[in-house]
Amino acid sequence: MALIVQKFGGTSVGTIERIHRVADRVARTQGDGHQVVVVLSAMSGETDRLLKLAHEVTGTPDERELDMLLSTGERVTIALLAMELRGRGLNARSFTGRQVGIITDSAHTKARIARVTADRIKEALNEGVIPVVAGFQGINERSDVTTLGRGGSDLSAVALAAALKANRCVIFTDVDGVYTADPNIVPAAKRIDKIAYEEMLEMASLGAKVLQTRSVEFAAKFNVPVEVNSSFTEGKGTLVTKEDKDMEAVAVAGVTGDRNQAKITIVGVPDKPGIAGRIFGPVAEAHINVDMIIQNIGQAALTDLSFTVPRADLKKAEPLIQNVAKDIEAKSVSITEAIAKVSLIGVGMRSHSGVAAKMFEVLSREGINIMMISTSEIKISCVIEEKYLELAMRSLHTAFDLDQRQA
Ligand code: ASP
Ligand code: MG
Repeated sequence: MALIVQKFGGTSVGTIERIHRVADRVARTQGDGHQVVVVLSAMSGETDRLLKLAHEVTGTPDERELDMLLSTGERVTIALLAMELRGRGLNARSFTGRQVGIITDSAHTKARIARVTADRIKEALNEGVIPVVAGFQGINERSDVTTLGRGGSDLSAVALAAALKANRCVIFTDVDGVYTADPNIVPAAKRIDKIAYEEMLEMASLGAKVLQTRSVEFAAKFNVPVEVNSSFTEGKGTLVTKEDKDMEAVAVAGVTGDRNQAKITIVGVPDKPGIAGRIFGPVAEAHINVDMIIQNIGQAALTDLSFTVPRADLKKAEPLIQNVAKDIEAKSVSITEAIAKVSLIGVGMRSHSGVAAKMFEVLSREGINIMMISTSEIKISCVIEEKYLELAMRSLHTAFDLDQRQA
C-alpha cells in the first residue's frame, strides 16, 4: 500500500463529465489498495474569470480581497468531487487550505508556504476517508486567505506530499508528460521518462508550461518524486526526480524556446567605471528581471551595451532606459522585440564537452545569426531572430539525437 497524492488541473475538472472521470481514477487507485489524497485546481478558466470580475470593479483590486475571491474557484471543484465520490458510496471529504493547515506568509496573491500541518488529512486517512483538498490556497498567521501564485495548486500538492511523506505526487494534466521539446513546434519531440529536478526547473522557467516552477523547487528541496501524467489517457508519464547516472549519460535532455524576451541596446555608452551600475540600478528598482547582458568591445572610449528584459516589462523599461541613456550621455537606444531565446538543457553537460560548439555550428549551418549567448552548468541559451525560433529548435533537436530518443 502506498500513499499517493493525486493533483488534477483545471482542464481535468473543467466539466461535470470530467469530474466523473477524476472520480473514476481516484476510486480505482483506492481500489488498488492505496491511500489517496486528492488536490484540485479550479475549473479551467475560472480563476481568469474571477480576476476579470475583480478588474471590472476596480483597476487596482486590493490583494487581500483578490485572494478571498480567487480561492473560491477551488472550493467549487473540491465540493463537487467529494459529492460525486460520496454518491458512489466512497468516503470522501473536501477540505480548504485552512482546514488542512497550509500556513503561508502574508504576500497576498503570491504567498510562500511557511509550514503545513496536515492534521485533518492524517486524521481523515486514518479513518479511511479520501481527503479532497483545495489547491492554490492557504492562510497566513492571522487566518486571512492567501493564494500561492498562478498554477499554485501544483505547489499545494507537492507541499502536502512532502508533509505527509507520500510515496508519490502525481500531477494529472492535459499532457502525458514532459517532452524533449514543445511537440507543437517540434513534431519529433519525445516524452521523457525521467528528468532531474534541476533540468525540470530550467525547462519550467524556460517556457515548458507543464509544472509550476515553485512546485519543482519545493519538490527538489524535500525530495518529493513527482510524476506528470495525463488525466485523459492511460500510460506512462514523466518522473521528476533526483539526478542519476542514466540522466548524466545524455548531454542534452531537452530544447526550449522562449519568445517572451525583448532586447534593448544602448549605443555609444561611455566606457568607464560605474556606468553599468547606473544603467541597471533603476531597472532593478523597477523589479524588472534582466536576463542576458552583452557589452561589446569599446572603440574610442564608447561601447554598446545590450540586454534582454521580459517583453511584458518593456513598456516600463523603455522610459527608464531612455532617461538613463540621457544621463550618461549615450548616443541612442534601440529596441528589438522580435527576438527569441533557444536553449539546450541537460545535467549531462557537466560531463560532456563540445555541446556549445555543436550548437553554434548547427545554428550557423541553418544561417541563423546568434545575437547573444549565455551558459550555466546545465544550460546553453542563444538569442536569435524570432522568425527562426522554430527552425532552430527543430534543427537542434535532430542534431542532438533527440528525434531518436527512447522514452
Ligand atoms: N486555479 C489557479 C490558477 O488558475 C491555481 C491552479 O490552477 O493551479 O492559477
Ligand atoms: Mg496548472
